[in-house]
Amino acid sequence: MGSEIYFDNNATTRLLPEAFEAMRPYLTELYGNTSSIHRFGSQVARKVQEAREQVAALLGASDPVEIVFTSCGTEADNAAIRGILEASPGKRHVVTTQVEHPAVLGLFQHLEKKGYQVTWLRVDRDGMLDLAELEDSLTDNTALASIMVANNETGVIFPIDTVGDIVKARGIPFHVDAVQAAGKLPLNMKKSPVDLLTISGHKFHGPKGVGALYVRRGITFRPFIVGGHQERNRRGGTENVAGIMGMGKAAELALRLLGEEGRRVRELRDRLEQSLLDSCPDCRVNGHRKERLPNTLNMSFKFLEGEAILVLLDQYGICASTGSACTAGSVEPSHVLRAMGVPPEWIQGAVRFSLSRYNTEEEIRFVSEKMPSIIQRLRGLSALGKLSDSQEYQHNDSRTADRIEARR
Ligand code: PLP
Repeated sequence: MGSEIYFDNNATTRLLPEAFEAMRPYLTELYGNTSSIHRFGSQVARKVQEAREQVAALLGASDPVEIVFTSCGTEADNAAIRGILEASPGKRHVVTTQVEHPAVLGLFQHLEKKGYQVTWLRVDRDGMLDLAELEDSLTDNTALASIMVANNETGVIFPIDTVGDIVKARGIPFHVDAVQAAGKLPLNMKKSPVDLLTISGHKFHGPKGVGALYVRRGITFRPFIVGGHQERNRRGGTENVAGIMGMGKAAELALRLLGEEGRRVRELRDRLEQSLLDSCPDCRVNGHRKERLPNTLNMSFKFLEGEAILVLLDQYGICASTGSACTAGSVEPSHVLRAMGVPPEWIQGAVRFSLSRYNTEEEIRFVSEKMPSIIQRLRGLSALGKLSDSQEYQHNDSRTADRIEARR
């Protein structure tokens, strides 16, 4: 293991040693194909079935047959949305939110170009949905609603069962992206109105390159990847057996440790949050303070650039993010924070700390100690930062904000 202090777990997580051990034989001696007739292949097929049961247990699915393995969360999102649309070709209206991960957002933008009418539900300043807006958006022409469980940037949690009840009352198929929720929040498909649900192995200490789509029994669904008959004709292509075995093991451990580890991680996150609020002037938490993943803290530092903060944190070996890994490195301000109406002078200075069971109190102390001097140093360097302390700013808030906008 390196010497990094890793607070970027919403981007990806460290592979559990147990998951790695579960994968190892399938990368070496147990290389049979699950579709083969011979015993060598069918013993692998049986193991894949066990992993399916482990994933089904994490999701509270009533039957492992409802789990379809995919190559990642993005594929599962595509499979769900395209699979439903293809099964209902007459309907040309879809509903989603403005704050989805690019895996869903990008697909809906693509569908919009192809002639679908997309309702982009708004969020309030806490990042929460307006359920009345959702209800009003649904029509007889609505083919599908796809709404995430927990936001990857802010950790904000949508009341997904209530949302599902509204959608299902109109008989509309309901997909949720639970990539950030799996392993962090209890999920129970037996009692949920959700029809399709996406997860990804590498977000809960499983390997990269494997995901799963939960498809409720009885849902009409067409395969996105057409070809072989794998996954009961729901996803063509030889399975990533090692990946599936690793994800199965990670799912088993995630379920076992959910409550206990969740509480510990929440305590660490809350400690970090309080310490930064106390020691760094002009900072704020983005997103609902209560309805939020226990591991996620998204904070803005006024008039600063999040990327600059990350570079200085990196010098201490601290890994954090400005938000979604998929937009890191681009100068585009976060679409999630913009949708929440976060003002421009706060939006660029957003940093996301996302924790896992591997983080320690010592690491929290270390980051809490380093952050105030990093912020002070950047404010010293930044003319805008200086302005924020000055009398001029106090009296001309809106003019200053305009100047900052002009500089961007
Ligand atoms: N959905 C959400 C909410 C995510 O956070 C991510 C990854 O960050 C994805 C989907 C995509 O998952 P994958 O990286 O497995 O394609």
